[in-house]
Amino acid sequence: MKETNTFLPVDEALRRIAEQLPNPQGVEQLALRECLGRILAEPITSAINVPGHDNSAMDGYAIRGEDLGAESLSLIGESFAGHPFEGECGPGQAVRIMTGAMIPSGCDTVIMQEEVEREGDSIRIIGEHKTGENVRLAGEDMAIGEVVLQPGKRLDPAELGLIASLGIAEVRVRRRLRVAFFSTGDELCSLGEVPKEGQIYDSNRYTLYGMLKRLDAEVIDMGVIADIPEAIEQAFNEAAAMADVVLTSGGVSVGDADYVKQTLDKLGRVDFWKIAMKPGKPLAFGRLGNAAFFGLPGNPVSAMATFYQIVQPSLRHMQGVETQPLRLRLPLIGGLKKRPGRTDFQRGILVREADGSLKVRGRGHQGSHILRSMSEADCFIILPAESGNVGEGELVEVEPFISLVGEATGIKKPPPSRAAVFFRPKIKA
Ligand code: AMP
Ligand code: MG
Repeated sequence: MKETNTFLPVDEALRRIAEQLPNPQGVEQLALRECLGRILAEPITSAINVPGHDNSAMDGYAIRGEDLGAESLSLIGESFAGHPFEGECGPGQAVRIMTGAMIPSGCDTVIMQEEVEREGDSIRIIGEHKTGENVRLAGEDMAIGEVVLQPGKRLDPAELGLIASLGIAEVRVRRRLRVAFFSTGDELCSLGEVPKEGQIYDSNRYTLYGMLKRLDAEVIDMGVIADIPEAIEQAFNEAAAMADVVLTSGGVSVGDADYVKQTLDKLGRVDFWKIAMKPGKPLAFGRLGNAAFFGLPGNPVSAMATFYQIVQPSLRHMQGVETQPLRLRLPLIGGLKKRPGRTDFQRGILVREADGSLKVRGRGHQGSHILRSMSEADCFIILPAESGNVGEGELVEVEPFISLVGEATGIKKPPPSRAAVFFRPKIKA
């Protein structure tokens, strides 16, 4: 166990953690509907063309492009979606066609019905047209042999539909990560218990539960563990035996009950870091047997911020997901106080201006014990370590909570860059 006395930048912490994360295997094959929110474990290759045949994008008339200049064309039949025209359409002929219906043999162009005058079985085309218009080509969406989804892709509604359109009924997905978590601290009281003098209700187990569920993890809530060395050791052992990840909150700052550190030192390889982020300075990370261990700070906002910024990307990494939440640069309304040194994750509120543009303002009281700040805010305002106070109108980096929950942006993580490290930690001898 090492203790550092300098701040470790968030990027650097993520890089070090990534090097030590376990790589839990395990895949299950599920019916397509069961795969919503799961992580794809195999590439999805198209065995068919989608669409399967050239078809019409409009209700209208299918013709041969070379007939575009003709005075009139004679109507020889109809093509409906699911009921194609069986014959051949020759020169000077046209086929009545509906959206999604197969383009008849011989035709390559569809004229929308609003631009056609019909008299009995004769049609006349009005206006300027081009060969090929209003025709959707076979394989235009997905062509035979094309890899349309890569492993590591989270399966959202669009992906379910995409896979269904290929006729695939079952998919191989990564098994869910199992995450065991508990709280430490004699001041903590669980719901249903009567708090003694000086006790508070344990809220972190509820925020952690929520954030883990949103990540589609299998959660194992082990409750509050008392500050008794044997109880702590037993809890760590049990947790590490059944989970891929062990998560605790509280007890990682200097001056905290020493047996958490002692126990971790005895059971595994755990470092205690001071992360250059605010809120959320103290963090413990390491391995307990095959499990990854994260010890989050106890303050409720710190626990959430370190979860979102450090645990969540790490869990995603363990599942082979390489996307990151959406970050925007938006003008600030009002100012924000900040001291240079650590990266701030201030809580902010997105504001839609009358002209439709988006801005952001701070949520007010930023104390790491004010959990309401997380509830009332809808984004993190991320102020880089070296930044001082920020003024009205300045551009700030914003991470909407909705994108932390959904992570549906598909923005690729930039490769970890050592150049971006501002505070290189020095390990004290
Ligand atoms: P610690 O990180 O253990 O020093 O705790 C920092 C602050 O967070 C203290 O005020 C604790 O009472 C509070 N705290 C620790 N764990 C929890 C929890 N599970 N729920 C709510 N508050 C907590
Ligand atoms: Mg404590």
